[in-house]
Amino acid sequence: MRVLVIGAGIGGLCLAQGLVRAGIDVRVFEGEAGVHSRYQGFRIGLGGPGLAALRECLPPRLHGLLEATTGELSGERRVVDEQLRVTGRLGPLNGGMATDRHVLRHLLLAGLADRVEFGKRFVSYEEAADGSVRAVFADGSAACGDLLVGADGVGSRVRRQLLPEAEIVTLGGNGLLGRTPLTERFAGLVPGFGTVVHGPQLRMLLGKMEFRRPPHLAAAELAPDVELPATGSYLRWGAFLPPHVEALPQDWTATRELLLGLMDGWHPDLVELVRQSDAVNSSPLTVRHAKPVPHWGTRRVTLLGDAVHVMPPSAGQGANTAFRDAALLCRSLTAAHHGEAELLAAVERYELEMLDYGFAAVAASLEQLPTFTPTGR
Ligand SMILES: Cc1cc2nc3c(=O)[nH]c(=O)nc-3n(C[C@H](O)[C@H](O)[C@H](O)COP(=O)(O)OP(=O)(O)OC[C@H]3O[C@@H](n4cnc5c(N)ncnc54)[C@H](O)[C@@H]3O)c2cc1C
Repeated sequence: MRVLVIGAGIGGLCLAQGLVRAGIDVRVFEGEAGVHSRYQGFRIGLGGPGLAALRECLPPRLHGLLEATTGELSGERRVVDEQLRVTGRLGPLNGGMATDRHVLRHLLLAGLADRVEFGKRFVSYEEAADGSVRAVFADGSAACGDLLVGADGVGSRVRRQLLPEAEIVTLGGNGLLGRTPLTERFAGLVPGFGTVVHGPQLRMLLGKMEFRRPPHLAAAELAPDVELPATGSYLRWGAFLPPHVEALPQDWTATRELLLGLMDGWHPDLVELVRQSDAVNSSPLTVRHAKPVPHWGTRRVTLLGDAVHVMPPSAGQGANTAFRDAALLCRSLTAAHHGEAELLAAVERYELEMLDYGFAAVAASLEQLPTFTPTGR
């Protein structure tokens, strides 16, 4: 059996790791030119079934490195006003861990050098009468396999061909995603799991990514064949702007000034947090979600992660759900590989279960959104 995965994001790579562990032939095709091509370094909270699924797919020799490059993610979730006075508590959350998406992606690439091809932008697929599927790329090349998995994120071309009627909703308003190097002063802003700032004109969401060990040094000691980026600890913040801000400037410096203009009179620690944000790792944030889709009738093309059930980051479930998909699909394909199930029956089992918990996670994320946005949109 050969599995073609479109997209070397964290979901597609997690699946590839699991399939390699199971002895299944897998090829991953990524549209970006390389792993450093664009900004992708924000904090991701992992826990429960998502974390268990990641561990299930990742080879045991990398588990220690995964732990070493995570950070604490537990404790109180406070709501404060713009002067940092505590105005509410959302209750503690425990048991998960904070990871950085960029570091995690490097970790998930470990050992896959001969399986992943960068610069391969998927364009379309063709299903052949003999049951095989052929993926066609923008550079004119093609690849054939027994199953095609669209793990190509929110803009998925695979989904657009498989489910042209599937709808992705873009929520209105402007959001920003900032990253500021962690100092003692800024660490005090997030004493627990996270802090929500309800200011007069905007809301901010603060989270800390404090690596237990610098990722590149941990890799050098624990798995020298794995190259992890030298990313420093940081405070990640999201800001949701008031509806009267209709358009954002093109560059981060001007965007930051616009935000600072809305923070007049705010506590100096919050103002300084925004002022010291790192231009390379800060960007506008578009919040989207998928509308539920009915099961489409199994074929040799399926979907995984944001490609099928993208959700707002409000409940911290997107990556967790993508990993859960990867482990579940991997288990189903392993059964088919061992002759315990027909391939299509195995894929159908995956799809039915995935659609169920995937869209439940979308609904839960939408429910939590009003806590973070100025108008509860
Ligand atoms: C600010 C923010 C915070 C978040 N926090 C959390 C959190 O705390 N916990 C959590 O669980 N989730 C969180 N998420 C969600 C999480 O990041 C996503 O759900 C997760 O990255 C989805 O993984 P994926 O592999 O499905 O898609 P992606 O990570 O988007 O990967 C898709 C890949 O496909 C590639 N691709 C796209 N089109 C093509 C093509 N045509 N051909 C080839 N390749 C293609 C892309 O380049 C990309 O590499 C957060 C998201 C954001 C934005």
